[in-house]
Amino acid sequence: MIYDLVIVGGGPAGSMFASLLSENTTALLIEGDGVEKTCGGLLSPDAQTLMARLGRTLPADVLVDPQIFSVRTIDLQTKKERTYARNYLNMSRKAFDDWMLSFVPPHVERMKGVVQSMESASSGFRLTCRSEGKEVIVQARQLVGADGAASLVRRTFFPPLETMEMVAFQQWFPAEEESLPPLYSALFDKKTSPACSWTIQKGEHVLFGGIFPTQETRRRFEEQKEKLRSFGFHLNRPVRKEGCKVLWPRSQKSFQCGSQNIFLIGEAAGFISPSSFEGISYAMESAMFLYEALQTPKPIETYRSLTAGMRRRLLSKLLKARVMYTPLLRSLALRSGLTSISLRE
Ligand SMILES: Cc1cc2nc3c(=O)[nH]c(=O)nc-3n(C[C@H](O)[C@H](O)[C@H](O)COP(=O)(O)OP(=O)(O)OC[C@H]3O[C@@H](n4cnc5c(N)ncnc54)[C@H](O)[C@@H]3O)c2cc1C
Repeated sequence: MIYDLVIVGGGPAGSMFASLLSENTTALLIEGDGVEKTCGGLLSPDAQTLMARLGRTLPADVLVDPQIFSVRTIDLQTKKERTYARNYLNMSRKAFDDWMLSFVPPHVERMKGVVQSMESASSGFRLTCRSEGKEVIVQARQLVGADGAASLVRRTFFPPLETMEMVAFQQWFPAEEESLPPLYSALFDKKTSPACSWTIQKGEHVLFGGIFPTQETRRRFEEQKEKLRSFGFHLNRPVRKEGCKVLWPRSQKSFQCGSQNIFLIGEAAGFISPSSFEGISYAMESAMFLYEALQTPKPIETYRSLTAGMRRRLLSKLLKARVMYTPLLRSLALRSGLTSISLRE
């Protein structure tokens, strides 16, 4: 069988796109290896607005305790800190991804597995996949790359994006060993990373993770962990560790929408905030734009034009990123206390 469409990747971008498809399209969603994405698991106000537009309400079992209304921002070098109000929802990322997949209608076929290679063929595309220990060949006229930052679809058919390649590393710790109130914190330390780190409580665990250069990632992570002790964090005996590749957008050339019959959505297209690394909303929004574009006679041109505003919004966040990630500007911003809240004793 030759599918009209094959979607590679069952994260928020792939599941959102698959959930919109009508019965007129024969489609296969190749979900991936089922490993939980390394993520803060926070649903931003923009993502909540997209949910509202779709009439979707979030079940309680996707949320985790506690729901936090502020972020404690700490510069580990200068030891300056401020607290800002935030309106994110604290979720289990795995439960969120499973819930998003539950919207995929039965007429979209699903396969748990990983695409190992792909090539152009007379029918369109030929994909070699590994599913349940077996090799499976899949053919399709159109290809949707929703396979995240390390996208094989993008790497196979397009030149590398002009981004800064970084690595996220995160550990999970038993929450009962932490004596701090369950605040969400954003951490900066110019000595160990040009990006940021975070701590957040998720039920019985406290997560400490960060985004680091690809060299000496673990040493940098441990150095930050050590520095956090003087801010009251203990972070002993991790029960789980995880990591993934991160693309840090720098310019318009950090994005790739696709060409002809290959479309990229979500992080595969480079759509992630250069300031907060929030990406679930962009994954969902780009999926919705692609669905709309495929109803038109010139899908790739329409998709490019529909995502133009989103790409501009992402690039406008580069300004905020410059303030956040330039030590002097960050220090001035923290000192000014602009938009911060004061905590009552
Ligand atoms: C450390 C970190 C923290 C973050 N925290 C947040 C946050 O708190 N809130 C937020 O909104 N965003 C956050 N983000 C961004 C967010 O995680 C991503 O932008 C979002 O997951 C992108 O969704 P996606 O569907 O495009 O890709 P992904 O979620 O990465 O999904 C890709 C899917 O493709 C599958 N796949 C990959 N390769 C193949 C293959 N060869 N064959 C088949 N399947 C494949 C994977 O298994 C996965 O299911 C964070 C990112 C990082 C790195």
